[in-house]
Amino acid sequence: MAKKVILVLVDGLNGDVAQNRMGFLEALTDEGKGSFAKKVDLKSALPAMSRPLYETVMTGVKPVRSGIYNNSIVRLSKNKSIFSIAKENGLVTAASAYYWMSELYNHAPYDPIEDRIVNDKTLNIQHGIFYMWDEYPDEAVFGDGEYLRRNYNPDFLLIHSMNVDDIGHKFGLNSSEYRNSAVKVDVILSNFIEDWRAAGYHVIVTADHGMSDDKKHNGPTDEERNVPFYFFAAKDEKDGATLSAVTLPKKQTDICRFVCELLEV
Ligand SMILES: [Zn+2]
Repeated sequence: MAKKVILVLVDGLNGDVAQNRMGFLEALTDEGKGSFAKKVDLKSALPAMSRPLYETVMTGVKPVRSGIYNNSIVRLSKNKSIFSIAKENGLVTAASAYYWMSELYNHAPYDPIEDRIVNDKTLNIQHGIFYMWDEYPDEAVFGDGEYLRRNYNPDFLLIHSMNVDDIGHKFGLNSSEYRNSAVKVDVILSNFIEDWRAAGYHVIVTADHGMSDDKKHNGPTDEERNVPFYFFAAKDEKDGATLSAVTLPKKQTDICRFVCELLEV
């Protein structure tokens, strides 16, 4: 079984919008049904807010227990994360991500010069390209991630895009702008996923939280909590081998465990 994982976290992507607008992901899920692909619907932990849920996805600890209750709590995580566990086991970690990920797992507060591009084996995220701008184009975020993959061959790579969330805050859930921002991510992903699988990576696409028509997210409504979870096994697998060997997450707090199982750490 391949042991490398790419986790794509599309910030603010509501599960129904993913299902209805992301034609490539849906087609690949259909194509790989029973062999290399599977999709489950997840609900985010609460509050349905970004920084608390980055911690939930990366550590399996929900916000009421992690102490990262809101976006303004700026400090390093106190929990073991996919990054720290992978690093302790001698694996290579990398991330193309919003700077709050750097603050949770590398260094807080974020220094826009020193922390933006990092290559340091002592850090939890050893190879990182971080951005501070919600409008930083998703194409650039995925390009940065692919650069890290090609140059550092990470065992675990996080790619974390922000435009869907940003556009949701400007136009709301029920807007063509928001839905089309999801289309754009789907098109970008269609250029990468099959190459990643061919290179021996298991690929996960999920979100931290959804979006509401009030152009915000925080509460327990389905709009705010429903997130997609797509899993595409690496191409070198015997058909169905990975799918039958792993238990897909049933809750957002299971994602960390799931990725660690794939990495065999
Ligand atoms: Zn947001």
